[in-house]
Amino acid sequence: MSTRTRKRTAVIGGGMAGSAAAKKLIASGREVVIYESADGLGGRARSWHRPEIEPDVGINLMYVSFYKLMTELISEYGLESELVKLSSDIYISDRGRAIPLSPDSPLSPLTYKHVSLRDRLAFLRTTIKQVRDKSRIDFFDPIKAAQLDDGLSAADWGYQQMSRRGFDFMLRPQVEGFWNFASEDASAVHAKGLLAWMGGSSFYVFRNGMQIIAERNAEGAELRLAHEVTDVQLAGARLRVTAGPVGGDPATETFDELVFATPAPIAAKLTAALPTEIVGGDARRFLESQRYEPALSVSYLVDVGGLPSEAHIVAGGPGDQPLRNMITYPRTVRDERGRAVDKLLVFAYPGRANTRRLLGLPPEEQFAAVLPWLKTLWADFSGEAEPFHVAERPYGFPIPAPGRYRQAVEVMKQQGAPVVFAGDYFNSPTTEAALLSGFRAAEALMRAD
Ligand SMILES: Cc1cc2nc3c(=O)[nH]c(=O)nc-3n(C[C@H](O)[C@H](O)[C@H](O)COP(=O)(O)OP(=O)(O)OC[C@H]3O[C@@H](n4cnc5c(N)ncnc54)[C@H](O)[C@@H]3O)c2cc1C
Repeated sequence: MSTRTRKRTAVIGGGMAGSAAAKKLIASGREVVIYESADGLGGRARSWHRPEIEPDVGINLMYVSFYKLMTELISEYGLESELVKLSSDIYISDRGRAIPLSPDSPLSPLTYKHVSLRDRLAFLRTTIKQVRDKSRIDFFDPIKAAQLDDGLSAADWGYQQMSRRGFDFMLRPQVEGFWNFASEDASAVHAKGLLAWMGGSSFYVFRNGMQIIAERNAEGAELRLAHEVTDVQLAGARLRVTAGPVGGDPATETFDELVFATPAPIAAKLTAALPTEIVGGDARRFLESQRYEPALSVSYLVDVGGLPSEAHIVAGGPGDQPLRNMITYPRTVRDERGRAVDKLLVFAYPGRANTRRLLGLPPEEQFAAVLPWLKTLWADFSGEAEPFHVAERPYGFPIPAPGRYRQAVEVMKQQGAPVVFAGDYFNSPTTEAALLSGFRAAEALMRAD
């Protein structure tokens, strides 16, 4: 006779959102299985490692001091010693001439000579206003963000605050430097949030990659790594999940509940066969309407002195750019004879059109195409660089279209057992937002207990 009383829950997708959901569900006494198509947890926040660089920071996923949930998890798991502090010097470039606009220094905007004094003052005024309003501005929590998501795009709003040139050189580069989507396509909440929260914040990377948070959150779950879910069906009162290793034999298991924590288009596809009583029309439309800006990170090693160190150099100006931004880190490299050599590790992120064009090409072609664009951000760059690493994220950044936060809140309110959704597409493309959406999805399942 079966004595099964614990609910059995599958989490599909072991990124930040899925593993956060797993943490809460395990704590509620459920038996949790995580399916993850990659060979490790962490999703987009998973780093890569190259033993020849020290310290190893992989894809440079940053944790920012105002991430509340992540700060709590770092403390709960005792991970403080994993953190490496970075400088947050921002330079904004006008066709290769880069000038610092550091969010750490309140007076830095006044010396930013690519725009008029009137715009510098307008930028300062707008920043002060957003900082004063800080407690209302939140781009992690859609419930708060929805109240400010009045249908204006970041560009619409920015052009109301200062001249077009002022916005294009002082605020657009910061929004697009972080997320790559066009300011015309993203809710004004993102521009307001950056101004309110970035100044005075500290930035960190995890010494061995941010996936450690996902790994700790998932402790106690059964992991099916390198297992891609290919089909989900209703089977009586339960849900049947088919998954298998890529190219291997799929297997089927049944569950009481499911958390879909993949990017939205994959969740939409996997739930297509489920009836409306389980995935309602609003949720389905929401999933299907999410668009993503892909990301491509191409890194090089260059000699010290060729570029500023610990700098985030971003393209100013309207429209798409050949190269959106680059980030430089000092790194000690072991050469082929094991000797330590000081270098700069430079991560270059192409603009939107170039990213789409270069995704999936052989790395030699990606390195060769991106290298000349470094001069569009730093005209004096010598052009000498050793190709180092390429990382591709086809589902890079979900685009928070104006009004999307309001829709997200409606979908969140309606969701409940036996199927819920989690992911950064409910909030903003940040790990903090993904964690919050995972916790909320688990709570939505637990409401039925
Ligand atoms: C280049 C880049 C830089 C970034 N930098 C930062 C930063 O500095 N700081 C920051 O806070 N955020 C940053 N982000 C954003 C952050 O990485 C994401 O917002 C966050 O990691 C999203 O987590 P998620 O769990 O919602 O989705 P994901 O991480 O995409 O997780 C979804 C998981 O589902 C798995 N999956 C997909 N399909 C299936 C399937 N069929 N079966 C099983 N598993 C499946 C995927 O492999 C993946 O692991 C960056 C993003 C990019 C692209």
